[in-house]
This record gives sequence, structure tokens and C-alpha cells, in this order.
Amino acid sequence: MSAQFDQIVSLSKRRGFIFQSSEIYGGLAATYDYGPMGVEIKRNVVQCWWDEMVYRNDNIVGLDTAVFMHPTVWKASGHVDAFNDPMIDDKTTNMRYRADDLIEGHIARLRKKGKDERADQVHERLVAALNDENMTDALHDLITEEEIRSPDSGQCNWTEVRQFNLMFDTRLGASSDSENKIYLRPETAQGTYVNFHNVRETARLQIPFGIAQVGKAFRNEIVARQFIFRTREFHQMEMQYFVAPGSQMEALEMWRERRMQWHLDNGIRPEKLRWHEHEKLAHYADVAFDLQYEYPNGWQELEGVHSRTDFDLKAHQKYSGKKMEYVDPQTRERFIPYVVETAAGLDRIILALLCEAYREEEVNGEKRTLMAFHPRIAPIKVAILPLVKKDGMPEVAHAIKDSLKADFNTFYDEKGAIGRRYRRMDEVGTPFCVTVDGETLTDGTVTIRERDSMEQIRVEKDAVAGVLIEKLRSWEAGT
Ligand code: ATP
Repeated sequence: MSAQFDQIVSLSKRRGFIFQSSEIYGGLAATYDYGPMGVEIKRNVVQCWWDEMVYRNDNIVGLDTAVFMHPTVWKASGHVDAFNDPMIDDKTTNMRYRADDLIEGHIARLRKKGKDERADQVHERLVAALNDENMTDALHDLITEEEIRSPDSGQCNWTEVRQFNLMFDTRLGASSDSENKIYLRPETAQGTYVNFHNVRETARLQIPFGIAQVGKAFRNEIVARQFIFRTREFHQMEMQYFVAPGSQMEALEMWRERRMQWHLDNGIRPEKLRWHEHEKLAHYADVAFDLQYEYPNGWQELEGVHSRTDFDLKAHQKYSGKKMEYVDPQTRERFIPYVVETAAGLDRIILALLCEAYREEEVNGEKRTLMAFHPRIAPIKVAILPLVKKDGMPEVAHAIKDSLKADFNTFYDEKGAIGRRYRRMDEVGTPFCVTVDGETLTDGTVTIRERDSMEQIRVEKDAVAGVLIEKLRSWEAGT
């Protein structure tokens, strides 16, 4: 991990954003818990997404389906047969890797050395191998011919490449009978597809329309690492947009534009985002794009925008025997709708937002660390701080907090030197601090300190809510 990654991981623990799961037992690999600050960010990101997808569109509704589903769902969707990653083992260390990741790493190293032409050739061979009928053999040949070495042992002592299914399975109920095998969902989308008619009929929707869903997904990743970037249990925010066949490309373009804008609006810089078109399409897609973010360790997928054709609805029609058709109310034409999906990983978005927000500065010869979150994302919007814990200042500060808490997530802190308290609020990204001091007791004014500029202004204590609302409004407007 890069130095910036290490700093973010350490700040996340120190300030209560993210902890390793089961830490007192030595932790569980690649599994994380969100602390008091992290859970607020998570809720804020979900709310921003829900506002954008559900509340701002008359033709998109929400849904919340179960993690467990009928096992035939995953047969129909193709996940039982095709939701695989190619894995390979280093015989020296028994360490396991994703074969395509090893080749990607090799290509990146060639580029770093300025060998772009070679890198392009290997890349071309990788795309061909991934689309080859004998994908595992083709990947193995590429790894051995390129003499790609194991990152851990430095040797070229590889097993064959095998396909590994990423779905977790478990048993339903008390019986250990294999008949009762069920899966933890690897994506929320299937819950949406099987409810296509339930939602469409009850919400009285006509094509084009969308169904949005936020929930946990589980994948038994071969290698899970890079903090919350790749975990085996994660949150997805997915929206399935149902359109008439033939109009999927138009819908895809619209959603690519809107999803990019949403990330920009939440404070991600444009130079940190780019589109990448899939070279190996999933079994259900006719075209697919990844929105990539430049994490400290390189460009990686943040969100996918995929044209999934009518593959899923058609498959559920076949396996369930239930019609998945839509009847156009005007023309009476019957068809199975096409789907354009926006599939975002909540944890990956949070990691990108942590990376974007992290700043270090020098102030009066001292290091200041701050998380420059957009106020919409910030866990605490305003901290109320009495300068000292006496002379009636805490009472006034509590009264101000009470007057603000209906509108903002507020935080009260009276312990320690004021400078330290400001630094603590900077580190969790609190955009405003309101301080009650000696002057407050004589003339009824307080200071409002802004996180990024550290500038302070004095305002009447009764005017604080109005001033904050105004400041947040101009932040939203980008002024
Ligand atoms: P990758 O290629 O990185 O494995 P993917 O293409 O399999 O990802 P999708 O199936 O498109 O991912 O899933 C949609 C989104 O879910 C991704 O853009 C990502 O943000 C998130 N996601 C997928 N797998 C994980 C994971 N193991 N941990 C955290 N988030 C994930």
C-alpha cells in the first residue's frame, strides 16, 4: 500500500471511521466495520445516491430485497455456471492469485519502464485470452511465456489456471441436505429482476422506468485487499433501468453522464475520474463501461454502467415459467425490456471520498491534517465548543446545540485546549465550528470557524442557524 493509503487507514482507525473486523481476535482478513464517523458518511452517501436516483426522477422507485433468494435465481442468472474468476497458485508458497491480475500487473510494470509497445502486445494477448474458449489454458500460456513471477516468492513455479466460483453458499434451515443449498447474493440486481412485475404493477410504471436498491452483496474474492476497496462483504447501490429494445445505448449514455456528474458534485475532482470500456463482457452484457477513480495505487473501478440486454428477464422467464413481458399501453406491443444498470460500490465510493478529502498542511510550523469533505458527506456538520468549561459558557453552548440539532448533525465538545478541539474536528472533516467565548457572555455573539480556510467570523448567537444554512447553500452552488 502507498504512504497515502497507510495514512488514511491510520486516520480511519484513530478517528472512528473504519475499524478492522473482530480486531480483539486479531482481525478477520479484508473485513471491516464502520465506526461512529464512518457510519455517518455511509448514511450520507446512500442518502445522496437515493436523492439523485429515486427522489429526483418520477420514473424511478426504490426496493429492498432479501439477501437469500431461491437457488434457481442464480442458475437462471448464469452466476452458478459463469460467475468465476481465474485463479493460479504459486507452488513455492501456496499463495493464490487472480491470473488476469498478475498479467495486468506485468503490463503496468512494462509501461512504467517505458516499454509501451510490448505492453500493448501483452494487453492484446490478455484480451484474446479472456475471450478464448480455453480461457484458463490461454492465461496460463501467457503467464509462463511472459515469465511472470510470483509477487511473493519471485519464482515462476505456477500451477494450472482454474476457474473459481465467487458465490458463497450455505444451507437453509436445519437440514444438511444439499437440496437446501442457497447462496448469499453476489449482486442486488437479481432481487430487482424477479420483482419486475410486483414493482411495475404496484408503482404503475411505464417504460422507461428504474428500480433502485441499496444492500449488501457477498463475493468470495480470490484475493481481497487494499482496505475497503475489495472485500468479501460489501454494499452496492444499484439501479436497473428498463427500456424498450433498441433504446439501450441512448439510456446508457444518459446514465454515464449523470453518474459522472454525481461523483463530481460530491467533491471528486474531474482529473481523478475516467471511463474504461470492458474488453471482456460479462455473460449478460452487450456493452459495459467502468467509471474508474485514480486510487493511490492506480486507476480502478468505482462504479459500472452496463447494458445488460434482456438476458436476465428472459432467463427468469425461462426458468420460472412466468412471463416477463411488458405490454406497451399505446401500441399493445409485447416485449421483454432491455436493462441498463448503474452498479456502484458504496465502500469503494467511501474510499475514494476519503482519498479525495485527505489533506496535510503546515500551519504556524505545525502539521494540520484535515478531511476536506463536501458538507453533504461530512459526518458532523457543526461542532459547538465553549472556550472554557466554566463561567456559564457550557450552558450557552448547549442551548445553541439544542437550537441546531433539528437541522444539522451537531457535536458538543468542552474537553481540552480549543486548538486541539479544532484539529480533531478538522480530522473528521467538520466544516464549521461554533465557539462560545467571553464576548458571547457580554454581547451575545459567537465565532463561526470554517474548516478549510480556518477563517472566523463573529455573528449573533441567534443568527447561527441562518448563517450556516446560507453558507451551506453557497457551498452547494459552488460559490
Ligand atoms: P472488479 O472488476 O473490481 O472485481 P466487478 O466488475 O466484478 O469489480 P461489478 O460486478 O460491476 O464489479 O459490481 C458493481 C460494483 O460493486 C463495482 O463497481 C464495485 O464498486 C463494487 N464491488 C464489486 N466487487 C466488490 C468487492 N469485492 N468489494 C467492494 N466493492 C465491490
